[in-house]
Amino acid sequence: MDSDAELVQQLLAGGWIRTERVKKAFLAVDRIFFVPEGARISAYEDYPMPIGYGQTISAPSVVAFMLEELDVQDGAKVLELGTGSGYNAALLSHLAGPKGKIVSVDIVPELTELAKNNLKKYGKAKNASLFSGDGSCGYDEEAPYDRIIVTAGMPYIEGHPLIKQLKADGKLIAPVGSRLHQDLILYSRGAYKKALPVMFVPLIGKCGFPRE
Ligand code: SAH
Repeated sequence: MDSDAELVQQLLAGGWIRTERVKKAFLAVDRIFFVPEGARISAYEDYPMPIGYGQTISAPSVVAFMLEELDVQDGAKVLELGTGSGYNAALLSHLAGPKGKIVSVDIVPELTELAKNNLKKYGKAKNASLFSGDGSCGYDEEAPYDRIIVTAGMPYIEGHPLIKQLKADGKLIAPVGSRLHQDLILYSRGAYKKALPVMFVPLIGKCGFPRE
């Protein structure tokens, strides 16, 4: 595929994008700004890609699925764990709009820098604040959040400190399982729903997986 519009068409045809809101966000945020320079030819293909430091930018279909389930409203305050390339942060920024706020944390300082540069190139995510550090226990300083999205695999979610950082009517989506394979879990109002089998890199840290 040669353009963001073509990628969006494919995600619509596959049923990954289901709402006008998410469609508009994907059209607004060109993935070309977030893939490594040497991989630009594949920017609009629906697969994950290495971004350095053993990490990956997720496949667009999985990102679309998570954002549809998360249902980010205008003005929402959102926490993302695992900034990576900054692509998802840019999409969240568009969905939450100028009155919203995105807080995104990554444990690899170089990736926080990379994401900051990518967002600068993209130029429109003024409502996103990026932090570097172990976000595995969440980011209490800015809690509570309307929405929380985790883009690295977690060992557990029930009883996890993240749940306490969510507003009573908030929603959270996270890959939960082993270091290699997880299921996306959607949490809201005390209920956990299993959605899609996925493969994310592990969330490493105090409330995640131990460093090997
Ligand atoms: N959302 C990203 C992809 C994330 S890949 C994007 O749109 O490109 C998973 C990321 O989780 C990696 O960048 C990795 O460094 C980060 N990560 C792993 N453990 C973490 C932790 N404890 N706190 C914050 N980020 C973590």
